Amino acid sequence: MGKGFIIIIGLLQLMAWKAYGQVPELMGGCKMHPHSQNRVAVSADFNPVRIFKQHLSIALDPAVRHISGQVHYRLQLTEARPQLAIDLDAALQVDSVWSGNQSLSFSQNPLQLLLPAPNGLWPADSTLEFSVQYAGIPPVNPNGFGSFMTAKHGPDSVPVLWTLSQPYGCRDWWPAFQTLGIRADSTWLSVNIPIGYRSGGPGLLQRIDTLGGRVTYHWQHHYSMPPYLLGLAVSEYEVLEQRIPIAGSTDTVFVQDYVYLEDTAYAFPRLRELLPPMLQRFSDLFGPYPYLTEKYGHMQISIFSGGMEHSTMSSMGSWDYSLMVHELAHQWFGNKITCASWRDIWVNEGFATWMVSLCLEDLLDNGFWWPGWKHLTRLSALRVPEGSIFVRDTALTTTIFSQRLTYHKASFVLHGLRYQIGDSAMFAGLRSYMNDPQLSWGFATTEHIRYFLEQASGQDLRGYFDRYIYGAGYPRYQVNWQQQGNQLKLHTRQLLPQGLPFAQKLPIRAYGDGDSLDIHIDFRGSQRSDVVIVPFTIDSLVFDPDIFVLSEPAVVQRLSSLQQGNFFASLNNDVLQLQLPFDLQPNAELRLYDLQGRLLHWQFVPAEQLYQEIRLTQWLQPGMYLLQLQSGNEQATKKLILAQ
Ligand SMILES: [Zn+2]
Repeated sequence: MGKGFIIIIGLLQLMAWKAYGQVPELMGGCKMHPHSQNRVAVSADFNPVRIFKQHLSIALDPAVRHISGQVHYRLQLTEARPQLAIDLDAALQVDSVWSGNQSLSFSQNPLQLLLPAPNGLWPADSTLEFSVQYAGIPPVNPNGFGSFMTAKHGPDSVPVLWTLSQPYGCRDWWPAFQTLGIRADSTWLSVNIPIGYRSGGPGLLQRIDTLGGRVTYHWQHHYSMPPYLLGLAVSEYEVLEQRIPIAGSTDTVFVQDYVYLEDTAYAFPRLRELLPPMLQRFSDLFGPYPYLTEKYGHMQISIFSGGMEHSTMSSMGSWDYSLMVHELAHQWFGNKITCASWRDIWVNEGFATWMVSLCLEDLLDNGFWWPGWKHLTRLSALRVPEGSIFVRDTALTTTIFSQRLTYHKASFVLHGLRYQIGDSAMFAGLRSYMNDPQLSWGFATTEHIRYFLEQASGQDLRGYFDRYIYGAGYPRYQVNWQQQGNQLKLHTRQLLPQGLPFAQKLPIRAYGDGDSLDIHIDFRGSQRSDVVIVPFTIDSLVFDPDIFVLSEPAVVQRLSSLQQGNFFASLNNDVLQLQLPFDLQPNAELRLYDLQGRLLHWQFVPAEQLYQEIRLTQWLQPGMYLLQLQSGNEQATKKLILAQ
């Protein structure tokens, strides 16, 4: 690790302190979360830089894989540095670098453009302006989503060109400061293309110049943006424009969509009908659309599936409902507040995926699709237990953007948190997060999410986050029950994984006599017993009836009394596992015999814990044994087989 690395960790910790100096219980001293110390992965040449303005002026032809142009920067270093390192793949050759009319010296290594300071040190806190001229064929980066792509679409094979820089792909097509932690206050994009094409871009379209068979689209964006959110798409497009009023406010959102000519008949009605309720829902839940003075929009691309939440204009591989919601949701979660490192990517993706469920809940077809979303998302999250939502290895795009963990598990965990702390705390907490002056138009970690949800709910969510976000796997519960009169006796325990309690609220519903009752168990530790008054005769008990808990299907068993011989036992080497009935007397006795009637083990059974593991004092041979349980005057005997 070089010196730069140490400086940067220091800088980011300072930023965290600045942001959360007022909440020492979150970030302070020894209480700092163990995972937060290494949450930011930075390159050794990270620049402590604040970008006031970046203006990218490029010439493109969607039929040709090539780029040429310049980027102009106005920025400030927060620390003096002997050289500036700008991310740029060596496949793109820098022609010259100018500051005013002064030519600057430069060099390129495989992934960077280096600008040594003319006087030995680029000074801190003074404004630097320079332009980089460059050209070349953008490389094909296998570790990405195709940073710079061309394709053809439609019956006439119309060329399309688009960019998609997340997570490490800016450098594949422009000289950028792509490390997370840097944002640009304003971004201008001028794209010169053959006449007949249009180019989507960020912010507002200022003008279109026409000269010599080519047109230049001038976009200006005046909201803070991390460079990976700059995207463009060039093709023959039909444009749909609408102004969407937001009920309950004076806001209207200007929407501008660039759609393939062959898809307008399908896409335009969907954009007109489906987008307004989504915008309304998210404005109601999380505050006004972030880019209210500019626009929202879509630009169609030919990526196989999926899209990208480019600032104010999402790139769309399809007009799928979920994709439309997902990319819109990112304008709040991902764009207005961005993950502070790729380890925290769920702060972007988990939210955008979960927010689809907030629209499916009742906007589309009266909520018909919501149970399906819950079921399928949980199924995907439960496919295998390995890996955590918090990304341990951010080198590979496939690991950062794990469908199962970053999207499905993370979104289902948010869905579960909604049940855990309740809707009003969930949405109040997230509104506070979204509007926090230190985080808005900045960066956030997993711990920020936890802090705001804890503040809103008054609950300690450390255990929940440790298990579900930082940890791997998910639990499996067992619920045993017995009704005696109007008393429902419940015994809940975590079957798997052993020794790692997933403490959370668990929903159970009792059905009977045409009635039902919802019960919420505050599950902590490894097992617990509850008595609930139920005013009807129970026919059945269902665990998690509305699909809110990230757990494997629970084992639900109705227990009868000891008299009916209903207790469960099994032998596993020298460990006797017991599931006891509810009606055990104090000082119940347990006896284990072999088939010759020899007493091998005897003890009192404490009645308060219905699930017990008893370690026997002797090692048993494989074979058959008899277990006798005596409680008061009642007695029951079980045959146990110890397998080879
Ligand atoms: Zn996304």
